[in-house]
Amino acid sequence: MPAKRLKEVCPVCGSSELYYEMGGYTGKIYHCKNCDYVGPLVVEADEEMIKALKESYRNPEKPAGEG
Ligand SMILES: [Zn+2]
Repeated sequence: MPAKRLKEVCPVCGSSELYYEMGGYTGKIYHCKNCDYVGPLVVEADEEMIKALKESYRNPEKPAGEG
């Protein structure tokens, strides 16, 4: 079984529309174009994880872990 390719995505909304902010002394800062998340962390996710992130972002009232 081939390893799944992981993609760096926004931890909030699952978007891959991430850009580096000009960091300076804080180092790398990512900026999500989709939800305006700004921070040093991104998630390495496969397609299923990305899908789950996007769904929980769109439906925040839905309890996690269901389904
Ligand atoms: Zn985002």
